[in-house]
Amino acid sequence: MGERLLDTEEVGGSIPPVPTIVRFAIRPLIKDPGIKMKSIVVKLSRDKTVEVPPNKRIRDLISKVGADGNVIAAKLDGQVVDLDRELKSDCSLDWISLDSTEGIDILRHSTAHLMAQAVQSLFPGTQVTIGPTIEDGFYYDFKRDQSFTPEEIEKIEKRMQEISKSNLKVVREEMPKDKAIEMFRKMGEDYKVEILKDIPEDRVSLYRQGDWVDLCRGPHVPSTGKIKAFKLTSVAGAYWRGDENNEMLQRIYGTSFPTKDALREHLRLLEEAKKRDHRRLGRELDLFSFHPIAPASPFFHPKGAVVYNELIAYIRGLYSRYGYQEVLTPQIFDVELWRRSGHYNHFKDNMYFTQIDDREFGVKPMNCPAHTFIYAARKRSYRDLPLRLADFGRLHRYEKSGVTAGLTRVRTFSQDDAHIFCATEQIEEEMTSLLKMIHEVYETFQFHQMQVKLSTRPDPYMGNLETWERAENSLADSLRKRGIEYQVNEGDGAFYGPKIDFEVMDAMKRGWQLATIQLDFAMPERFDLSYVASSGSEARPVMIHRAILGSIERFMGILIEHTGGALPLWLAPVQLRIVIVTDQQKSYAQEVLHKLRNAGWRVELDDRNEKLGFKIREAQVAKIPYAVVIGDREVSNGTVAPRARGGKNLDPMSVEEFLNYLQNEVSSVKQNEARQNGGVQ
Ligand SMILES: [Zn+2]
Ligand SMILES: [Zn+2]
Repeated sequence: MGERLLDTEEVGGSIPPVPTIVRFAIRPLIKDPGIKMKSIVVKLSRDKTVEVPPNKRIRDLISKVGADGNVIAAKLDGQVVDLDRELKSDCSLDWISLDSTEGIDILRHSTAHLMAQAVQSLFPGTQVTIGPTIEDGFYYDFKRDQSFTPEEIEKIEKRMQEISKSNLKVVREEMPKDKAIEMFRKMGEDYKVEILKDIPEDRVSLYRQGDWVDLCRGPHVPSTGKIKAFKLTSVAGAYWRGDENNEMLQRIYGTSFPTKDALREHLRLLEEAKKRDHRRLGRELDLFSFHPIAPASPFFHPKGAVVYNELIAYIRGLYSRYGYQEVLTPQIFDVELWRRSGHYNHFKDNMYFTQIDDREFGVKPMNCPAHTFIYAARKRSYRDLPLRLADFGRLHRYEKSGVTAGLTRVRTFSQDDAHIFCATEQIEEEMTSLLKMIHEVYETFQFHQMQVKLSTRPDPYMGNLETWERAENSLADSLRKRGIEYQVNEGDGAFYGPKIDFEVMDAMKRGWQLATIQLDFAMPERFDLSYVASSGSEARPVMIHRAILGSIERFMGILIEHTGGALPLWLAPVQLRIVIVTDQQKSYAQEVLHKLRNAGWRVELDDRNEKLGFKIREAQVAKIPYAVVIGDREVSNGTVAPRARGGKNLDPMSVEEFLNYLQNEVSSVKQNEARQNGGVQ
């Protein structure tokens, strides 16, 4: 950072106001004529520097340095500020363009202001409260007795467009807090007065556009004309400060994008997500249902159970290749176990309990403590390690009813859970194998985009520093060796060990956290696990908790939305539906049905007296991968005429050829890594 030549005032701190609007103007900046102002050195990116006279506004620099017209704010010594800011001393400056993450956030918050201005001009007497940005958009909470009707929302949008067109300058002002309180009180804005009273600073900043003003830290876009592509998406009730004892406010949600195209694409994906909602598809495809008798606990119907079991079978198939052994453990345990594992202290509110024979038992929320008993059931030596125990055991976790949502957050589920007991020096090798496995699984489900986060040692932490460093390095090295880009969340690991989280991107570009690899130095300690090292001395193993799909229930929900219910052939509950043209082909169709069934395919026969086109369409709606058409020609040639779900007709072929075709399709999707690498030991 450059030396400050002009004064000692912190840049980005209390800046004198810009007296553009007379009504609330405050003291103008008075320059001491006795001091000769030296020029300011501004360091721009790529080591470029410019010299400017003091009090130059940032926006005046834009054209001078040839930054593009997309710039809507700047970073002054790392702090995001408006373009209107005056430069006070030597500083560094970065541009924030409209389409950057920070730029979009400023744009969205500015759109919230635009909306509030439109609301107050249309509905006088409505009070403003807060208007933050959220993922993919923003909201603003208003105090108004009636809720907003769809017609009113349309009107608000229209008014927003008008204000945008009139391209009002967005101006920052500062004033003493008491003055601001007085002003908002006169305006009848009780909530702003309440917010102001909680602000510790003596001076506050306001943002004004036209005759509308809001209390705000900013920054904002320089003028309302920058806000061009927005949409109000929904209305909901919300309590003031999120407290149900407070009065109810009206929350309007909206979103905003740098371009109309980006907005259109976003709205298309939203619409698509609505169509693909797994709760809706689960009902339409007869996969599962929910009943108040067991809140937030799915009932899987026969078709849903097929998918569920296929997912487990797939992971089981990997276990034999990757050296896991499956175990079965009890459902309920004496609370003594949960006390020892630490769950009783930290996780009690999320557990279910029961009393039997005057003993208190807890239903398992996770499998890990049980696995330590299998480990400790006999004396272990270094030759037994790594020991990889997998468990699809049913888990129960109490979730508040407000946060449960279809399959993605339930109270009972099972995971593709496993625990690897290994020596510290084996961590890296285990990681390498795990990363390979995770890659294989996600490729199979066509999640091609993945974000990886490595969380490191927090403070306080348990265990010794050397073990931590060794473990963290092993995790980082294995990621690097596989060429996986990752982000480090410094200090974000659990107190008992570092972890890696994997987030995949679905077809609607939404991120879902799936796999976790969690190193644990604490549990082996708590349960006093040990092994005899090759030197003959006692050593403590490390425990790796890991899941790839995570909860099977949640994964199924995500997968249904990712695929829009069109599950891959190997996973589809009904894989094939034979469709006949007339009754004449019935007996041949029966013959084909048996052949396909005997080969292990899930197949059904549609021999209803309906038109062929209708039956094919129905198979399509039911998301069945292949309609197998049989007409007179197929009967006389001994063939079938398969039609893929997407509409593609395959050439007629014999049943045997079709069976080969299906088999090839499945193996081209599954086990791709195994084929590429010639198997994994
Ligand atoms: Zn604001
Ligand atoms: Zn675990």
